[in-house]
Amino acid sequence: MIQDNIIQSTMDFIEKYDPEVGASIKEEFARERRNIELIASENIVSKAVMATMGTCLTNKYAEGYPGHRYYGGCYAVDVTEEIARKRACELFSCNHANVQPHSGASANLAAFMAMMKPGDTVLGMGLPAGGHLSHGTPMNISGKVFHAVQYGLRDDTEQIDYDQVRQLAKENHPQLIVAGASAYPRIIDFKAFREIADEVGARLMVDMAHIAGLVAAGLHPSPLPYADVVTSTTHKTLRGPRGGLILCNDDDVYKKVNSAVFPGTQGGPLEHIIAAKAVCFGEALKPEFKAYQQQVVKNAATLAAELLKQGFRLVSGGTDNHLMLVDVRNFHITGKEMEHRLDEVYITVNKNAIPNDPEKPTVTSGIRVGTPAATTRGFKEAEMTEIGQMMAMVAKDFDANADKVRAEVNALCKRFPIYE
Ligand SMILES: *Cc1c(COP(=O)(O)O)cnc(C)c1O
Repeated sequence: MIQDNIIQSTMDFIEKYDPEVGASIKEEFARERRNIELIASENIVSKAVMATMGTCLTNKYAEGYPGHRYYGGCYAVDVTEEIARKRACELFSCNHANVQPHSGASANLAAFMAMMKPGDTVLGMGLPAGGHLSHGTPMNISGKVFHAVQYGLRDDTEQIDYDQVRQLAKENHPQLIVAGASAYPRIIDFKAFREIADEVGARLMVDMAHIAGLVAAGLHPSPLPYADVVTSTTHKTLRGPRGGLILCNDDDVYKKVNSAVFPGTQGGPLEHIIAAKAVCFGEALKPEFKAYQQQVVKNAATLAAELLKQGFRLVSGGTDNHLMLVDVRNFHITGKEMEHRLDEVYITVNKNAIPNDPEKPTVTSGIRVGTPAATTRGFKEAEMTEIGQMMAMVAKDFDANADKVRAEVNALCKRFPIYE
């Protein structure tokens, strides 16, 4: 018999088998159903992706690569991993894919090791400007093993300062320049980065973790014509399992990437997750995925317009992609307070520093808001406008509006259920 709701029946099974763990899983499921998810890095995977992660492939040790493993019995997972690689290459129009990185941070560490020696210089986007920890911040291994120099944003436009990137590149002679961000609402000019890299003889890495789904759908320029190596996560806009991905075109770079992933930085690959990546790439190759990504971008533009209308300031004035940074200071509250207030009405966001933020990183003056998960749920422009209005209501007068907003959120989430 085909399970008509495999998600529900799996949870029922776990709850019977181990009530303690089962209850916490069901608690999270209830939260995901009840809350409007606006964390820009999250999404809601398909039942097929979810089910694939829970298969017997987790039992298999498969150190090495398809056809060249250090363990027997790999003939089946070899096929799975080859499908994942082939689909990733088709999806992003490139020659090579390594689908083994356990996460985005692992993919970045492997790519750094493939492109540089310890002590070499890397030029990446600073964390306060919207970059990622793994691009050379001092508290991350990337900033300890490598000499990291960081670029930022222009004060006037709050967009990447390409002149500063060029100047820092000329002064520091980095072996690697990294483009890509976790909190940047604008199109990134990969061609400009390539030109700068060529001027100083550096190699270029693009980390497209946040925008991979948009790139796959042709809604953000692809980095692959420009970058020596491209890293990504698979669980953000790409809507796959939690994991990492490395792409490239050059045969020699591919060899270096493969040995940097295994044996360089990882042991056995997670073949059940790789199978789920293959399913995700299969979904992303379908026309429905392009329509989904178009709606993600439309929804972000609609929400941004409503937030501006309601009196919020947006970093850089708006958005070109799936996310926006909302400066909440016009309402005399902090990012932390806004995150807390939204939590109380079942809307989930994260506080996020804005450029030159006067507040501490644990407080901040802004929030980061993204539309991928809400769009998966089925929200369109009308719902995004409603969400913008609700955000203004809790920012203006929380005590007066909380109950009303919570009821509106409940009604919306009931109209657009997940995993039914
Ligand atoms: C999310 C993200 C990562 C890290 O991914 P994890 O899977 O959390 O390790 C790396 N780079 C960028 C730009 C990201 O946004």
